[in-house]
Parts: sequence; structure tokens; C-alpha cells
Amino acid sequence: MVLNDSTVFGFDAGAAIGHSMKIFTFSLILFASLGVLGLTTEIKPQTPLTWPELQRKAARFGIVLTLPKFENSSEEIAQSTDAAIAKANAALGAIGGLDPKKVTFRNTVRALDDLQSDISQVINRIGLLSQVHPEPRVRDAAIDATQKFNDWGVSVDYRKDVYKAVKSFAATNPKLQGEDKRLFEDQMRSYKRAGLDLPEDKQKEVENLRKELGKTETLFQINLNNAAAPVKLSRAEFDGVPESLLGKSRSGEDEYSVDANVTFQFLLVMENAANEETRKKVYLARDNRAREKNLANLKKMIQLRSEIARTLGYGSWADYETEVRMAKNGATALAFLERLKTGLEPRFRAELDEFKRIKAASKGSTTPEVNIWDWWYCAEKLRQEKYQVDAEALRVYFPYEKVLQGMFNIYERIFGIQIQEVNPPSKYSPDLRLYAVIDKNSGAPLGMFYMDMFPRAGKYNHFANFSIIDGKRLEDGRYQRPTTSLICNFPPPAKDGPSLMTHDDVTTIFHEFGHAMHAILTQAKYVRFAGTNVPQDFVEAPSQMLEYFTWDKKVLDSFAADYRDPSKKIPPEILTQLRAADLATKGCFYRRQLSFAILDLTLHSGLTADQLNDLNAFSNKILGEVFLPPDPGTATVASFGHITNYSAGYYGYAWADAIASDMASVFQRAPDGFLDTKIGRKLRDEIYAQGNSRDVSISIEGFLGRKQSIEPFLKHVGIE
Ligand SMILES: [Zn+2]
Repeated sequence: MVLNDSTVFGFDAGAAIGHSMKIFTFSLILFASLGVLGLTTEIKPQTPLTWPELQRKAARFGIVLTLPKFENSSEEIAQSTDAAIAKANAALGAIGGLDPKKVTFRNTVRALDDLQSDISQVINRIGLLSQVHPEPRVRDAAIDATQKFNDWGVSVDYRKDVYKAVKSFAATNPKLQGEDKRLFEDQMRSYKRAGLDLPEDKQKEVENLRKELGKTETLFQINLNNAAAPVKLSRAEFDGVPESLLGKSRSGEDEYSVDANVTFQFLLVMENAANEETRKKVYLARDNRAREKNLANLKKMIQLRSEIARTLGYGSWADYETEVRMAKNGATALAFLERLKTGLEPRFRAELDEFKRIKAASKGSTTPEVNIWDWWYCAEKLRQEKYQVDAEALRVYFPYEKVLQGMFNIYERIFGIQIQEVNPPSKYSPDLRLYAVIDKNSGAPLGMFYMDMFPRAGKYNHFANFSIIDGKRLEDGRYQRPTTSLICNFPPPAKDGPSLMTHDDVTTIFHEFGHAMHAILTQAKYVRFAGTNVPQDFVEAPSQMLEYFTWDKKVLDSFAADYRDPSKKIPPEILTQLRAADLATKGCFYRRQLSFAILDLTLHSGLTADQLNDLNAFSNKILGEVFLPPDPGTATVASFGHITNYSAGYYGYAWADAIASDMASVFQRAPDGFLDTKIGRKLRDEIYAQGNSRDVSISIEGFLGRKQSIEPFLKHVGIE
């Protein structure tokens, strides 16, 4: 979840950057003198800083560090919500009531950023509590409050008095520089995107179209959520499917049922059922979900979006949506996808040949060609046959505390920081931990992060970084440093041993902690540009790049060791196998992802009447050109849920992946590899410190020291 580009203020209650889309001390001086190989992970007992100590440190540097005051009852939540809205409304009223002759940058554009800074602290904090507070009543109250903030945020977008004041300021033809100029332009563009510079009747039209669109999107999603897709199968048809699913799905003497709408059930069957007819049956059920209702809804959605875009003066909805992202227009995003598609072609074909061989050897096959219902099965068999990696056996190398410490050491080293535990004066849960990030050179505190790492009843069940306070330069010159929170669900420690992580868990924590670093290392002047408030097609890239670290032997050897005998490191051949298994089906993986991304962009780039009248046939054709052809009897697009929340944005996955590879290649070539301090510093200065205070393309090229390239990404997925 990232900030919503389409609103003027970008308020997104409980803004978290998570892992679901597909979301840690040691003295640096010590290992600097020992060199890279001396980067070992010992858990050094450390006395946590007290809160007053940290406050004194901050004051010396003109830094404001704020601990969120977590609400502990539904009454407190309601009070905070009402107070925050009242305060923001008063600030908006002050802007709206300005004498047009007295408008300045400070009392309009900057005042809006100030009020966003104030209220977003409350929105973020309460949004977090809605996901993590141990008391169900407090969570419920926080959910209600979040809805209230959302409604309020929409009404703010359409405050004409405020818009008038900002426009009066614009009419003074202000001579602004740097980040001030960018803030002003960004604000004006947001108003334009909301339709506020249109004549009254057109504005009304956009508003009505938006309401209609919102309703249609909700219907599309509800139909999808409610679309049960039951399939009845005999024991023989279930051959190969794990017992765990069999036991739960028995519905008669020799009858088992699965719901193809439940993703994990679907995948268990598709990856394991030896019988081709079984796979086909379950696939047909899944890709016909909601078709009766949703094909009509989809057509309506596409027409409404196209009309909104046209009324606002854009060529297409794809152009409208990408304007505020790196891609800038639909054609650029589409051209990128097409290049990737071509680049992946040889790899994709080679994988299909492997699949064909596997399928020929499988007894349950009824056709020789690899069909769309075969690929999950063939991919799984390929991984098992060729690589035989026992991911579970790797856990002994990743005891939680060592991983955490090891990751802290690495981030401390590359970013030039120190991470110190702090005793928080209050917590919403007993196992919550708080840390301060301190600049190693100057000793100045840079921000704080909480860690809430283990599952709990009613807690958010994925992995994400939730921003609580964003960075901002205050009016009096002091800097308000960020506070953020990592919410994870790692296996809790066992009674007789440590919590042991999988390699996948290790990659996840490197990724999510990367988002926390992105928030904390910011130097942006305004909240609007601080930390992770960057374009949607970029925000994941820095964290995706950090995932490369956990595949590097040198990085892993700095902390991963068998907890029963720490002299034992991960054997290099296991890592090689693990990597090979990960890469074995990347061609198929990305071509499938690209098929959805290209479909999403094409549907939003202007359609002919014929295409619109048979959306299903048109969609199946596009999907089949990029990945395996869908069965003509299916309507995959009717259950493509991302068409609602990622409208013309699905390309962002691959887009950010390519940037991540490109950035990782800089570390790969550096003298010290992923532990190179010079490159790490550059990453901090060019990417993390900047946020969105300048065009992120400039930041990326600043870090790369050259133009962007998709070559490293192609190489990464096995194309030389
Ligand atoms: Zn992420």
C-alpha cells in the first residue's frame, strides 16, 4: 500500500509499505578496522539508551524526535481523531480565509504541508493501531477513525476556498527555487488532477464520474470476493495433492471438494495434481469466477476511467495515472514492458521446452503440449527434480537474533550509521522494541523505529513498514526526524530453542528494514517528498535491491551460522542450488506477470468499439501473446482483481524490479561487493536522503553514475 496519487493531499490512512503484493549493534569502528572478513556477528550486550538521554542528544543537534503517544482505548482514539480533524480544519479555514492580496508561499503552499505533517502523524498512528493493537475494541475504533480520516481527506481535495488562496498565490508569478518550487508545482498539479481548474459543470461531471467509478470498482471486488468456485473431485483425480488438503476437503465417500477461489487451495492442486484433467478442471473453475457480473463491470470501469481522463484533458487513463509516476505516460510504460517481453523470449522458450520434457514423463498427461493449466505443475516438478533444495533444513543457519544483529551490522556499515536500542517510556504490546538510528560521523540522531516482530491474535498478518512520523524541516530551522514501525510475523522462539528463520524470511526482513531506512535517512524539506513518499513505480525498488544482499555468500557468512555449531557456515553448493532453483522458472514467472501488466495498460490506453464490445476475447488474445494462451472458454480478466486497485499501475512491479537489478549491479561491481562502504554512502546520499525532493530518475542516475539500463535485470534472470 502506498500513498494514493490521485488525491490532493495524498492522505492514505495507515500508509504501510508491505510485502503482500506482491514488505536490526555493534560498533562500526570495530569492523572497519578488521576489514570485510572481520564483519562477524556477536551479540554484544548493550545497555539501551533511556528516552531522556536520547532527547538530550537530539537537542544538541537541533533535532526533534517525537515518540508517538499510542491511544489505549476507543475513547482516546475518538478524541484524538476529532481533535486532529478540528485542528486541520482550523488551519484550512485560515488558508481559505486569506485576503488574496496577502497570500505568500508560507501561508498557502507551505501551510498545507505543515498541516499535512500534523494530521498525518495522527492518521498514521491510528492506522497502525487498527492493525496491531492487542485489544479488539481499540482496533475497531481505529478502523472507524481511519474511515473518518478517509472521508475527511476527500472533502479536503474539494475545498474551493483553499484552492482559491493557492491560486491567488500562483497568480503572483512567484519566483521559487528548488524544493519550494517543486512543492508548489506538485500542489498545483494535484488540483488540476482533481479537476479543480475546470469550469463548474465539468467539475461536477468529474465528481459524478468518480463516484460512479468508485461504486463499480467496489462491486467488481465484492463479486470477486464472493465468487466461490467449488470443484468436486474423486480420490483418484486428487492423486499427488498433499494429504493436508485432502483431509480437509473430503465431502463424500469418494468425493473431495476444493474452492478454486481460495488461492492456497488452488495452488496446492495446480502444483501437485498429477492428473492433467484435474488441473484443467480447477483452472477452468478459477478463471471463470465472477464472469457473468464482472465482464459488464469491467467494461463500465474502463469507459468511466477513459471519460474522466478525457474530461481532465489527458489522452487516456494510462496517461493520467502514470503522469505522477516515473513512467510519466502510458506509452513509455508499455514500451518498457515490450522490451522486457522480447528480452525474456529465449529464456521463456527454453523453460517451456523443459516443461514439455517433464510433461511427457508425467503419467497423468493427456496432451503433449504445455497448456496454461500445466505450468504450475511443471515448474514445481522442475524445481524438485533438478535442485532438491530443502529450504526447511536451512533454518538452522538463521536464528532470529543473529540475523537481526547481522542485518544491523550490514546496514550500519553501508549507510554509515549506528543502531541503538532505546527504552520506550510506553508500549502498546510488551514485546515491542524501539531503536534509534544515529549518524556515525556526527553522532546526530536520524530517527527511530519500532519492531513488532512476532504474531499475536488479531495482529496484521503480513510484513510491512508503517510510517508514523515523516521527516520535515520545521519553520524554526530544526529538523523533525522520522519514526517508523516494522510489523512482521516471524516464527516465535520455541520453548527449547531460538526462533529459526527461512532464507525467505531473511530476504523479507532485509526488504522491510530497507523501507524503514528509506523513511529514516531522508533529508527532504517537506513531508510531501520525505522518505518513502516517492512515485508508486519506484517505492519498492530500493528494498527490492536489498533483497540481493541475502543471496551473497559474503553477506550471509557475516551472520549466518548453524546455531548448534557456529563454526559451520552455509555450504556454498546449497546456496548455488537455492539460487538456481529460484531462477529456474523466472522466464515464465515474468512473462506471466508481463501478460497482466500489458493487458492492464492496453485496456487503459483507449479501445476501439469492437474491442470494448468483446473485452474478454480481446483480453484473452493479449494474455496469450505474452504468456500461455488462456482456454477460450475462460474469462480471466473478470477476476483480475488488480484492475481495480492498480489501474494502469501493474507494470510497476517489473519496472521497479529492473531498477533494483540495475542498482544492485553497482554493488556487485564494487571492490567490497555488497559491503562496499563508498557505494553504500552514495546510496544513502543519492537515493534515501533525496526521497521525492527531486525527480527520482535524477536520483537513480546519480547513484548509478550513468543512464539507467535493463541489461542487469535481463542478466539476472538468465539472459546474457
Ligand atoms: Zn516492500
